[in-house]
Amino acid sequence: MREAGEAPFAFDRETYDRWIRFDRYLSLAEELEGVLAEAVPLVRPRYLIGEFPVQAAGEEEILIGGRVFTSSVLAWNLKRTDRVWAYVVTCGREIAHRLEKEADPLRNYWIDALAEMAVQSASAYLENRMKERLLTPGSEIRLTYMNPGSADREVWPLEDQRELFSLLGDTEGEIGVSLNGSCLMEPAKSLSGFYFLSPVGFVSCWVCSASPCKTRQAPYKPDFRKNPSSLFG
Ligand code: SF4
Repeated sequence: MREAGEAPFAFDRETYDRWIRFDRYLSLAEELEGVLAEAVPLVRPRYLIGEFPVQAAGEEEILIGGRVFTSSVLAWNLKRTDRVWAYVVTCGREIAHRLEKEADPLRNYWIDALAEMAVQSASAYLENRMKERLLTPGSEIRLTYMNPGSADREVWPLEDQRELFSLLGDTEGEIGVSLNGSCLMEPAKSLSGFYFLSPVGFVSCWVCSASPCKTRQAPYKPDFRKNPSSLFG
């Protein structure tokens, strides 16, 4: 299975106003309307996803689709499965180019928030599609994911983005996403990783010591990397 395409995007003004805290900009409402009237039509989020076999797993390294990935946490997560789905989602190059051109800091912030909404929306769209495709009602199996460079640096080093992107092929030609010399994605409002099926689930925040973090979804579990199985009995 391999698919690339546009993800639907319905601009939700109420959510957007909450994100930017619109109450701070009441006196600039007309200017904001003008920015959104121009920028919203440029939002064209996209996704690319492909299925790959898990071919061999050691303690620290794992062979997927002929590429070696280095992460003991990823290797532990994939012990119970024989396939992954590598993916990239993006806000789309059109809104990213508009963002790059915007020199005014406040307008840049407004467009940045719109681009962030776009990539989050594409991510939710793809995740829901994968759940519909892979999960059966009543099953305890969960659709889980990991992202290179997420959580503490050594959990899954960002450099593995090169292997992930080489699995997926022409990401730039198909959805306009490339890697720069620092393994960061361009447009920056893009997300990449592996989906996989798991009976126990996984959340990157378990292996992330960032503190404070306003977007933390689960408590830090400092023992997870030493003995992950102990947390699941
Ligand atoms: S704790 Fe925060 S920074 Fe760390 S993985 Fe979770 S959301 Fe990301």
